[in-house]
Amino acid sequence: MATLQGKFIHANETLNNELNYIMQAYINFYGEDYKDYISSILKNLKIIWYDDTVQNKENFRDTIISSLSENTINECLKKYNQKCFSQSAYIDEIDVLVLPLSYDRTHIIHEINHKISCHITSLKPLQIISGVCVNIEKDGGIVSENSDLNEAINQKMTLEILDELKKLGLKIKYTPSWQEEIFPLINLFYELFKDSLKKVYITGDIDSLIKDVGIENYHKYSQMMFLKCFKLRRMIERGKKQFCLMMI
Ligand SMILES: [Zn+2]
Repeated sequence: MATLQGKFIHANETLNNELNYIMQAYINFYGEDYKDYISSILKNLKIIWYDDTVQNKENFRDTIISSLSENTINECLKKYNQKCFSQSAYIDEIDVLVLPLSYDRTHIIHEINHKISCHITSLKPLQIISGVCVNIEKDGGIVSENSDLNEAINQKMTLEILDELKKLGLKIKYTPSWQEEIFPLINLFYELFKDSLKKVYITGDIDSLIKDVGIENYHKYSQMMFLKCFKLRRMIERGKKQFCLMMI
């Protein structure tokens, strides 16, 4: 069985070897105009890898590995719940990607797309625009708006970026994800406003998207998405997915 170090070397090398392809796939998707922005984001990835084959996380520290300094990792662990480092994620506040050592490209592209679409607009109070999701610090916590809608849009984009990678000659194996359950609710919205959505991901200018959709329409749609996704999540948790899909 490969050691943690062995898996790390493999994942790191694979990413370095593929980085130019990945960069090109994002450029093909978002457009040549954003080449500089995309390259600068992809050349500055801070990654903590986690061993996604380990079920028992008792010795949690033995399941993560990174080229970041020991101090940086300890700082991150102090600041965040360890659970954040045992699943794929992009932690925007500290600009760290948490990626699976099994090198799951679907997860990797999804999380990098979160990084590309993350724009910190204010530090105090913290305000982050992440795609169409707006996170605002309030009373010591973070209030998120449109986070499910954003997850589904991000996953739609992920699948298209993976298609671009495929066109560039890379072998792609898709991993299904929970966000796909929301696709029926966003297919039309996504197709109609794809160009505006791409723009907002790169620039963080959410107002221009809202203007394109129409202020009233946008708020109605996000409200509807919030309620439907809330219901969907609750049903999935209760294991009544089939029933739930009939409801939405
Ligand atoms: Zn996500």
